[in-house]
Amino acid sequence: MIVVGEKTDQEKNMKTKAAVLYEIGGPLVIEELELSPPQAGEVLIKYAASGICHSDVSFRDGVLETALPAVLGHEGSGVIEAVGDGVTNVKVGDHVIVSLTPQCGECLFCKEGKPFLCAQMGEVIWKASLLDGSKRLKNAKGDEIGQLVCVGTFAERAVIPAGMASKINPDAPLETVCLIGCGVTTGVGAALNTVKMEVGDSCAVIGCGGVGLSVIQGARIAGAGTIIAIDPVPQKRELALSLGATHAIDPMVGNVVKEVKKIQRGGVHYAFEALGRKDTIEQAWSMARATGTAVIVGVPSPDTVLELPVLGFFGEKHFKGSAYGTTLPSRDIPKFVDLYMKGDLRLDDMITSHITLEDINDAMAEMTRGEGVRTVIKYD
Ligand SMILES: [Zn+2]
Ligand SMILES: [Zn+2]
Repeated sequence: MIVVGEKTDQEKNMKTKAAVLYEIGGPLVIEELELSPPQAGEVLIKYAASGICHSDVSFRDGVLETALPAVLGHEGSGVIEAVGDGVTNVKVGDHVIVSLTPQCGECLFCKEGKPFLCAQMGEVIWKASLLDGSKRLKNAKGDEIGQLVCVGTFAERAVIPAGMASKINPDAPLETVCLIGCGVTTGVGAALNTVKMEVGDSCAVIGCGGVGLSVIQGARIAGAGTIIAIDPVPQKRELALSLGATHAIDPMVGNVVKEVKKIQRGGVHYAFEALGRKDTIEQAWSMARATGTAVIVGVPSPDTVLELPVLGFFGEKHFKGSAYGTTLPSRDIPKFVDLYMKGDLRLDDMITSHITLEDINDAMAEMTRGEGVRTVIKYD
């Protein structure tokens, strides 16, 4: 006999431990939340790991805005535990990396094959909701809790749009390749997709955190000639040199633009800015040679206004933004995992430490101080 109203296992709410931001600047609160099951076009993912990205710090501090309360985190990997109706791109048991674009499939940019510019992105970030505007998490008081960029990876589990899960090689270590979800794809994609670097090209990379080091690796994979790493932290410059940079500059000593032009006469083909700061974006413009391109990868506060000397335009210089590495997630994320498995993309060296979710506030504080490159939360 079928009892009307009885729920199958898949329809029941679950519990998930998560790190929730309730107010700007506040600590992340570790608590158990109730998670409702996936609906049509959605999947339930059990996260294996999440990197902590500088943008999480920016959302915590209100430099970037999302509706609160919300589970932060957006650089995750995991295993699919359940799928809603109509999901065809992944199945239960698949190993996946979550991407950062909702890929609604309906907007102009998705239809033009540019899912990295999906028009729903701003909306889901602003609301901290899923694509239909709803939320799936509740705290013990019954308050609705959002999740950052639809994915909220500072949690053991999440319900996310199916299109945001990209299936990868199941042999890849999830606690390492999670970095591909944001920083690595943003950086490697900037070099390989946004500007399509070629053998022998020169570049400078301002900022050697997770994104900048990924740009450097992308440039090396493309066969770049001169790769100049710029960072004030000696350990990061050393790491950059070990990952493919041919030169490293401390921007606190001398004039950094002149130093770049001493190494590469006339400037570089590509000057990547991976910090998201007005002054360094303007420096990137000055480092690019005539016909070269300044590529803005870092995300500054949205009200930032730049001042650029106009003369460079008459050297036919280009000024270009890079959104999520101009990435097609279903094509590029498995490809970047394969590059890791072949040893071309070195991710282990970029991970400073693995922690548990309970240590997240300390790790966010370290990131605020500019220490380390990537801390990764590992879930049980
Ligand atoms: Zn990020
Ligand atoms: Zn779209």
